[in-house]
Amino acid sequence: VQQSPTADRVAISDLSWTEYRDRIAAGAPVLLPLGSTEQHGPHLPLGTDAFIADQCCRRAAAELGGVTAPPVAFGYASLPRTGGGDMFPGSINLTGTTYIALVHDVLSERGGEAKILCFSVWDVRDVAAVERAHPEFSVLDRELSHASWTETSTALSLFPELVHTDAFPADETADFPPYDVFPQEFDRVPASGAQSPLNHATKEAGDTIVRENVAGIVAAARAEFGI
Ligand SMILES: [Zn+2]
Repeated sequence: VQQSPTADRVAISDLSWTEYRDRIAAGAPVLLPLGSTEQHGPHLPLGTDAFIADQCCRRAAAELGGVTAPPVAFGYASLPRTGGGDMFPGSINLTGTTYIALVHDVLSERGGEAKILCFSVWDVRDVAAVERAHPEFSVLDRELSHASWTETSTALSLFPELVHTDAFPADETADFPPYDVFPQEFDRVPASGAQSPLNHATKEAGDTIVRENVAGIVAAARAEFGI
């Protein structure tokens, strides 16, 4: 069977409406990447979360015969404990109600097709698998992953051209209470924006993290959509 010239394209933005219609009619799930525009230290781009979500979804879609929606590239919400909050230029937050309304509207537009999977980037799906493959990870604090070992490794795997390896900040570890404080307090956030040590981040570890995330998306879609 001759493949159509667009058969390997997965982003619905790249498809015409007729191509999209035919993919959906053939049972393609729609993967919706959810990311953010947020500081990720002096060494990673502001779009790190959205890039990771989008690229993991594209790889999963290729395995599933699915398609990916344009990523939601604004998040809720960057706070000192989760990313630095308003302390750093470049982070763009939606309010919670706006975010809910935005995602609700996007999902509602696709509602007739039913097979929709949202993938929100927060790090690593199967931490144990990454720890087995990369024992050095176990010395790090899983809660303090922002702009740190996992995200830097993942960025080195997916978009190394946007990683400033000459701007890696010195190793520091944030010290937060297990709750948020308002008005926001920034004195516990390391000045670089990276929450924990990252200097032994590697592309190989990032490859493992990406593989685990993609496998998780594929497994969830197969289980829930019967594909
Ligand atoms: Zn991030």
